[in-house]
Amino acid sequence: MDCYTAPGPGLLPLDDALAAIRDGVDAVTGVESVPLREALGRILAEDVTAPDNVPPMAVSAMDGWAFRAAPDLGGAMRRLAVVGRVPAGSVFPGTVGPGEAVRIFTGAPLPDGADAVAMQEECEAAGDAVLVPALERGASVRAAGEDMQAGATVLTAGRRLRAQEVGLAAAVGRDRLRVRQRLRVVLFSTGDELREPGGGKPAGAIYDANRYTLAAQLDALGVELRDLGILPDKAASVREALAAAAGTADLIVTSGGVSVGEEDHVKAAVSELGVITHWRLALKPGKPLAMGRVGGTPFLGLPGNPVSAMVTFMLVGRPLVLRLSGGEAATPRSLVVSGFTFTKKAGRREFLRARLETGPDGRPVAHKFLSDSSGVLTSMVEADGLVDMPAEATEIRAGQMVDFLPFTGLFA
Ligand code: AMP
Ligand code: MG
Repeated sequence: MDCYTAPGPGLLPLDDALAAIRDGVDAVTGVESVPLREALGRILAEDVTAPDNVPPMAVSAMDGWAFRAAPDLGGAMRRLAVVGRVPAGSVFPGTVGPGEAVRIFTGAPLPDGADAVAMQEECEAAGDAVLVPALERGASVRAAGEDMQAGATVLTAGRRLRAQEVGLAAAVGRDRLRVRQRLRVVLFSTGDELREPGGGKPAGAIYDANRYTLAAQLDALGVELRDLGILPDKAASVREALAAAAGTADLIVTSGGVSVGEEDHVKAAVSELGVITHWRLALKPGKPLAMGRVGGTPFLGLPGNPVSAMVTFMLVGRPLVLRLSGGEAATPRSLVVSGFTFTKKAGRREFLRARLETGPDGRPVAHKFLSDSSGVLTSMVEADGLVDMPAEATEIRAGQMVDFLPFTGLFA
């Protein structure tokens, strides 16, 4: 539901900024080979194919007896002579004939001649014989290639490696993977009022929270971070830091100093050294966000308010980092029931901080945090994610389905 509403003079729709990232930003990182144990969280730079079937041969899915199914004989239990035993990791040397069974264990190759496995809970062992139920062919058998077929592409370049992708690579025999080199990101905060946590602070000062939120968000994306600390609200200092970073980084991320006040020097400095491509989004929180380039280096200027900095990083910074790193950048979302009523003016898309609770019918219900202030970082600690309220929408009613972006999908 993305019907376009003019967001007001000078304000750009969030989707314009996201489209510019999706269509205009390419991977800048090189490729390296890493041991599989170091691949978690990295972005795959090759397609991985399975050289063999997985499993390589038909195997038993159960502990039990392997035999030749004869469904035409009807439903009664049948007595079979036990002619051997095959644990996982070995191969039964003979062939199973009619009226015969082989004791078998989970993962063991199905003996020649057998085509079904009766699970031991449904059998009765009787000395050298066993009573098995009537079964269809293929019962409790995992076919060769059931998981992966020889030659199939099982992972594609651009995928961010989670535990399951790492395991899959191991399952096809890989001990190393080619991945994207880490994106080199320079980060700094701006503001004369900011002090480093751990030290004292004079009247009028606050601790720098944003660099810690943003560093954590960047770390979670696996970048190589260079933290330049806090810069004063001084045009020359900001310009100098930007110019130095442009030569050595793949991306520059800043917070503060992108609003319209005379102490907001970051945007002006970027305009002098390069170009601002996007500024002021029809977005709440996060209107002052600025995007551009310093020399050839992409620049992301996040607003200073702590909630705005964090949310705009999730919405815009994360896709930008992933694209520059050669990865895919989907923002996961789901539909949940609204547990609140809320009204706003049409024009700006709003992301409301909300906590999920299970409703009386078992479905998740979103409860909005009371304050909408972009300075209230406690709201982010309380919330489980963001309710996405379209620009043109003016009301959310309790009971209505709303789009929800869970934080779990917005960090990594
Ligand atoms: P600015 O975008 O620089 O105008 O800042 C907007 C608001 O966010 C002001 O109240 C700042 O004091 C606050 N702020 C800016 N940077 C930070 C930061 N790194 N940590 C915490 N608050 C900040
Ligand atoms: Mg400031």
